[in-house]
Amino acid sequence: MRYQPALSVSRLNDFKQCPLKFRYRVIDRIPEPPSSAATKGTLVHSVLEHLFDLPAQDRTVHQATNLLEPQWAALVERDPEVQKLFEEESFSEWLDSARNLVRTYFNRENPTMLNPSRSNRERMITVELDSGIRFRGVIDRVDVAPSGDLRVVDYKTGKMPGPMYQNEALFQMRAYGLLLKYDQDKEPLQSQIIYLGSDSTLTYWTDANDSTQVEENIVGIWNQILDCLDQGQFPPRTSKLCDWCNFKDICPAFGGQEPPMSEEGVAKLRRVALT
Ligand code: SF4
Repeated sequence: MRYQPALSVSRLNDFKQCPLKFRYRVIDRIPEPPSSAATKGTLVHSVLEHLFDLPAQDRTVHQATNLLEPQWAALVERDPEVQKLFEEESFSEWLDSARNLVRTYFNRENPTMLNPSRSNRERMITVELDSGIRFRGVIDRVDVAPSGDLRVVDYKTGKMPGPMYQNEALFQMRAYGLLLKYDQDKEPLQSQIIYLGSDSTLTYWTDANDSTQVEENIVGIWNQILDCLDQGQFPPRTSKLCDWCNFKDICPAFGGQEPPMSEEGVAKLRRVALT
């Protein structure tokens, strides 16, 4: 099947954070070097995904931490570049910190009591919203209760944000709820973000107005993206996150020179909307 461009939950967040960063990632597709923090996140997610391949009684801390090395080997096979991260940093220290995050997971949940099917782990959903926008997201885990009620679970290897920033984090979960509503005509009853970096969980109970509000929000952001496309300008928006941005060298807010925008990328992005 031909790959269809879609707006993803993560890229929406990029646009909200900084339109220029969105442009470099989505339109120009400028390659970014792997980072040890992001690679650790990928590894821990992989372990938690595969933990549920084991029979329930075998989902112990010991078995989970034993998955780290084979999952690391699989990650290297997919992207050998990640090994270069450890020319300067100690691999064993890095792996120990990933092991601690996996151990912390067991403070948050008892995986022997959960039974997510294969298709409900790292589940990619793409839908066509009524507004004509193709929208996509990858959900870490969807739990189905015996009553049929759904719960969406997302793992983060960082720390829980302070109360002022939690709405932003929950937007992602509400957007996953919208995807489930379109995909299986059912919204989750509850969403949880498990922050392994701070051994804490943020829980959200779906509100009856969520899907309408989230879709309005997505349409609003899409209209802002269209304005940027029409003006040929995605402005930089500085914040404390600029310190971790891979595009600082080509960001005019930091004295850099913007490269020309990819015409192919622009045409592809416009195909996200069907109308
Ligand atoms: S450095 Fe900051 S302002 Fe510039 S592109 Fe990155 S996030 Fe945007």
